[in-house]
Amino acid sequence: MKPKKFFGRKLGCDRCGRKRGIVRRYGLHFCRQCFREVARDLGFRKYQ
Ligand SMILES: [Zn+2]
Repeated sequence: MKPKKFFGRKLGCDRCGRKRGIVRRYGLHFCRQCFREVARDLGFRKYQ
């Protein structure tokens, strides 16, 4: 069977594959939830 969830990741979040609320900033491609966590790790306090 083909792994549909992570096939064509460009459509969804790079971290969890969610397609809703995608944030594309700073070359990242995450959903809002993942972006908050990743941004916090990267030092973006604005999104914490
Ligand atoms: Zn995500």
